[in-house]
Amino acid sequence: MAAHQEKKLAQERKHKPTQNDAQTSQVQWGRAWEVDWFSLASILFLLMFAPLIVYYFIMSCDQYQCSLTDPLIDLLTGNKHLSDIWNKTPVLTSRAAGIYSLWVAFQVVLYMFIPDFCHKVLPGYVGGVQEGAVTPAGVVNKYEINGLQAWIITHVLWFANAYYFHFFSPTIIFDNWIPLLWCANILGYAVSTFAMIKGYCFPTNAKDCKFTGNFFYDYMMGIEFNPRIGKWFDFKLFFNGRPGIVAWTLINLSYAAKQQELYGQVTNSMILVNVLQGIYVLDFFWNEAWYLKTIDICHDHFGWYLGWGDCVWLPYLYTLQGLYLVYHPVQLGTANAVGILILGLIGYYIFRVTNHQKDLFRRTDGKCRIWGKKPEYIECSYMSVDGTKYYSKLMTSGFWGWARHFNYTGDLMGSLAYCLACGFAHLLPYFYIIYMTILLTHRCIRDEHRCFSKYGKDWKRYTAAVPYRLVPGVF
Ligand code: NDP
Repeated sequence: MAAHQEKKLAQERKHKPTQNDAQTSQVQWGRAWEVDWFSLASILFLLMFAPLIVYYFIMSCDQYQCSLTDPLIDLLTGNKHLSDIWNKTPVLTSRAAGIYSLWVAFQVVLYMFIPDFCHKVLPGYVGGVQEGAVTPAGVVNKYEINGLQAWIITHVLWFANAYYFHFFSPTIIFDNWIPLLWCANILGYAVSTFAMIKGYCFPTNAKDCKFTGNFFYDYMMGIEFNPRIGKWFDFKLFFNGRPGIVAWTLINLSYAAKQQELYGQVTNSMILVNVLQGIYVLDFFWNEAWYLKTIDICHDHFGWYLGWGDCVWLPYLYTLQGLYLVYHPVQLGTANAVGILILGLIGYYIFRVTNHQKDLFRRTDGKCRIWGKKPEYIECSYMSVDGTKYYSKLMTSGFWGWARHFNYTGDLMGSLAYCLACGFAHLLPYFYIIYMTILLTHRCIRDEHRCFSKYGKDWKRYTAAVPYRLVPGVF
């Protein structure tokens, strides 16, 4: 739906509050204002250990053929000291710094200076200037959606330079993987620290800032909701989507090229991982406008969790399957390969259709058809900080009638497929499904806590109508 239509709908839905309204809805529905001890402990743990976890995984592939236990055994038996492992770790090089700076600068140029052309030529694609959701302060931000274009230009240039002009080798990413890790960390910490300072000194919108008074919590979870430089450089949209997600498919291609170089062939497992994750990445960019309405953009503030996470955690840990397959080139039997492909595609189908059903339902304000029928829903209301009351709807039909987060279930099935492609010899490639299960289960709880704060008793009516979270009849 066109942005102006959505704005009109939003205007139609809102009206000034009455005494009665104020009792039924709450205004504290953004991220937490107060920090409980468990959140603080988790945050301190992550701040201290997340960079080490990433290092451990990548180092174990580099030095121990992707075994997660061998480094520990070596250390515990005194066979090796920490210093031995550290001394064998590649250091930051000027070449990696150059590659990384060029990469990020190029993505900034694509994001900032090339207005979207794809929506003019690709039927059904929504790009160009789009509006985000209403923030807790009642602001509706505009975004330039041009991620698909950035992805296409980057990949065309990658193939041209790697295979036609031979300016660099297609294995360039794999060959500089650990030196690039240091660069990604520098950017991740720099951007998170800058976001913190900016939140205190020159926020983009002071009303959408949150200060808990706890330095670590604010650093991790962010102060500003939508930090920007100028009118268009939006930190959340840029760092969430690029450079990390554009790089995801390039990283996998670099792993496939390395397999080819080392073994003279690319295994079917590597092709499966490239294809299934490629679909996921392309889906993300095709639906970038929809992404403006997801939790990352709508609800999370921009701090270390998003800044460092997007620069380091995502490109390094979401691509572990491809990295593993460079060291262990698994060739799957046909039946296994087909089974994994089907699991991945069904997972993707559920993920996409569930997300699409909600998007369609919300865009048309319920005036659509879900599985050939008029959707069923629960009417609900909430308030922004200025006391304006808004109305919304929670759908209870389609996949949203099966479970409250069936899109996560599809995502988890797809994630499992990537891992299964790597066989069962090592734990490392299964990190992704373990992590996604924790992330998405935690997200269910986090989202439901937020929705309850936002919708109050209306949310309770919804959970009574759709009692399960992820798996109907089970959880
Ligand atoms: P959702 O897209 O499920 O959005 C949740 C929000 O949707 C709620 O806060 C609520 O927002 C609204 N909503 C909830 N129930 C209903 C309903 N029945 N009808 C209408 N609206 C409803 O969650 P995410 O943003 O977390 O995830 C988006 C996708 O991204 C998912 O498919 C997920 O799997 C994927 N994802 C992937 C990650 C990865 O690292 N690979 C990480 C995180 C997500 P409102 O306030 O508008 O009512």
